[in-house]
Amino acid sequence: MDAINLRHQTDFHLKSTFWLSVTAATLILPFAYYHLTHEHGGIGIGAVITSLSLYYVAWACHKKTYKTIYTFIWLTPFTTLFVAYLTNLVGITGTYWCYSTLILYYFMMSERQAWISNIIFALVNVPLVWHLFETHEAIRFTVTFSLVSAYSAIFLHIIALQYSELHKQAITDKLTNLYNRTLLKDSLEQAIHQANRTNTAFTLIIMDVDHFKKINDDLGHEIGDQVLKQLGIFLKDYLRSSDKIFRIGGEEFLILLYNTDEASSIDIAEEIRKGIENLSLIPDRTVTVSIGVAGLSLVVDWKQWMKVCDKNLYEAKNLGRNRVVACEGSWVD
Ligand code: GH3
Ligand code: MG
Ligand code: MG
Repeated sequence: MDAINLRHQTDFHLKSTFWLSVTAATLILPFAYYHLTHEHGGIGIGAVITSLSLYYVAWACHKKTYKTIYTFIWLTPFTTLFVAYLTNLVGITGTYWCYSTLILYYFMMSERQAWISNIIFALVNVPLVWHLFETHEAIRFTVTFSLVSAYSAIFLHIIALQYSELHKQAITDKLTNLYNRTLLKDSLEQAIHQANRTNTAFTLIIMDVDHFKKINDDLGHEIGDQVLKQLGIFLKDYLRSSDKIFRIGGEEFLILLYNTDEASSIDIAEEIRKGIENLSLIPDRTVTVSIGVAGLSLVVDWKQWMKVCDKNLYEAKNLGRNRVVACEGSWVD
């Protein structure tokens, strides 16, 4: 899963963690109040700490600074010991909290962290229940605890798989299997941000098939589709996996070259142009492309970057097509 994909997954995760934390923290508060004012002050203090920790998680989610490791290194050991302490003091009703704690683990952490937390929780609480209660109660607890663990793990795994599949579909162009426009703005903004932070060079290439309408008109839409598909395969084979390739319009492709300055990108664009010219995609006809190239140094935002690149593509078309234009007046064919 790449960086952009992960970012979207994180947004989804942050929202679910926010609402679960707020709900749990709020529902725990009356118990905290009851125990602080009646009996078992220790339970009251533990409940207040749990509640405040969950509100902190919700606040961090709201600020988008939440890290699952926080829950893993703090809430896992604390809740494991607190539920054990509770069960020890109040008896079998203390074990009721095991189930909601488990579910919280699975929603608030990565799958791996949740698994480890589940095992840590079980290693402390299951033997304690066997030690404290009758065998028939311990058996029932062990079976129900195992069921809730299994349900939560399976359910979350299925949600994660479905989410990842849906997300993949949403960002992919069906015809070429390249990225569609969905992540374009994010990718360009991320590149600008990284370039400012680490001085990494990024270059944009926009490529448009020459006289594509004529291919459609002469040979039919299906052949046109085949040409677009083959171009997608060619670009994917030719470029590195760190470069991002988008189909941004009918027969228009955008490539974001990672760690590549404008001079090297002109060579790459030229090789792409020549490579496509020599592909023999259609019998007795040469498919050519025009390409605009724009480095990152002169732009301030993603829209302006696209505009400069588009202008260079337009220039390449005006100069007769089947050529690369990098910046005003400098072109190769
Ligand atoms: P130019 O050299 O100036 O770029 O000319 P062009 O004919 O390539 O450009 P124009 O914008 O006039 O035509 C683009 C054509 O692309 C028109 C449209 O029917 C076709 N097209 C857009 N999307 C698809 C698609 O998904 N499949 C196919 N086969 N054709 C498409
Ligand atoms: Mg065209
Ligand atoms: Mg076009």
